[in-house]
Amino acid sequence: MSFVESEERRELRKVVSDLGKKYGYEWFNRQARSGGHTTELWLEAGKLGYLGVNLPEQYGGGGGGMADLSIVGEELGAAGCPLLMLVVSPSICGTVISRFGTDEQKQTWLPGLADGTTIMAFAITEPDAGSNSHQITTTARRTDDGWSLTGRKVFISGLDVAKAVLVVGRTEDAKTGKLKPALFIVPTDAPGVEFKQIEMDLISPDKQYALFLDDVQLPREALVGSEDAALMQLFAGLNPERIMASAFAIGIARHALDKATAYVKERQVWKTPIGAHQGLAHPLAQIKIELELARLMMQKAAALYDAGDDMGAGEAANMAKYAAGEVAVRATDQAVQSLGGNGMTMEYGVASLVSAARATRIAPVSREMILNFVAQHSLGLPKSY
Ligand SMILES: Cc1cc2nc3c(=O)[nH]c(=O)nc-3n(C[C@H](O)[C@H](O)[C@H](O)COP(=O)(O)OP(=O)(O)OC[C@H]3O[C@@H](n4cnc5c(N)ncnc54)[C@H](O)[C@@H]3O)c2cc1C
Repeated sequence: MSFVESEERRELRKVVSDLGKKYGYEWFNRQARSGGHTTELWLEAGKLGYLGVNLPEQYGGGGGGMADLSIVGEELGAAGCPLLMLVVSPSICGTVISRFGTDEQKQTWLPGLADGTTIMAFAITEPDAGSNSHQITTTARRTDDGWSLTGRKVFISGLDVAKAVLVVGRTEDAKTGKLKPALFIVPTDAPGVEFKQIEMDLISPDKQYALFLDDVQLPREALVGSEDAALMQLFAGLNPERIMASAFAIGIARHALDKATAYVKERQVWKTPIGAHQGLAHPLAQIKIELELARLMMQKAAALYDAGDDMGAGEAANMAKYAAGEVAVRATDQAVQSLGGNGMTMEYGVASLVSAARATRIAPVSREMILNFVAQHSLGLPKSY
């Protein structure tokens, strides 16, 4: 085990950071507030090979792993450009297709996911199931040519920019009639697919949608992987999602901490800069420690995942996502406090980070569900629900 980052990864960190800084938070925030998108940055990052670093070289990717993609997510976020679709498109969707897809599915989807010209959304959350994804009711029925998919999803990010969406549905077991999870690639322009923007109180260029699937006719090859192993396949995709959600949160936390630190070093209202007062210095130091701890856990989760240990990665990815969400909330709140009145101005762009940080405590899995996971699986405590 080494804590020394390879030269290749340090270089990746640097070039991605440079790209993020070229756009910066002012640009990102302007896109968010004007209802714009981050397409320009997304496509440039794709062209430079950053979006597909984790995908197989054979299909246009960089041949790396989640450790590399998490560097991309973290550095873009730290530079002020946290790209939510990185949590979804190359990570969950790219991983599931490259691990479990047919060669044809890989040929069709991976090159576009790698160079950013194709974005794929991911839909698991349902209005009546929420955190209880065992309760989902979106169902695929067999037809002569493939499948008919019907159901409803909520809070699906990026459907407006996505060419397709990876939908978690259920199929009926031919023998027992019981419903079991299955993954389908659904083009967003297929007949029967409709989506409607949810007005979120969130300052972000990535928008959320309610998705309606009404008797959507899909070919047989829309199913990804095996119908009988979908749960294992789903977990394989959810670990990268949690690792990337951690990178997203850690990026935001770093950006907020950097802004706060720079400000308190300069601002002087008594004899010394305000950063000399422990009332400000200690919370910032505490955040720095918590940030490094969250980052370490994210790196552990990515290393385990890349080494093929899905179970070990599951525990670490949950813990990393918890720690990253908590520190993102604390860092953005303390950044606002450190800047005083300026913390609430548009010019300094700090208060606008709070809602994005807050969302990382809820999505893609809430802090309570992670605590449930750790209580039951790491500590062996009984389940209450
Ligand atoms: C910005 C954003 C983007 C999103 N993008 C996507 C996306 O792209 N695709 C997608 O599928 N989903 C997406 N989601 C949905 C997200 O994954 C869900 O919001 C999340 O899983 C929680 O589900 P819920 O909102 O239904 O809350 P609920 O399940 O209703 O939970 C509400 C509260 O109750 C708590 N709770 C529930 N059950 C328990 C329990 N057993 N023990 C203790 N506490 C409990 C929860 O932790 C939470 O605090 C997104 C959400 C947001 C906010």
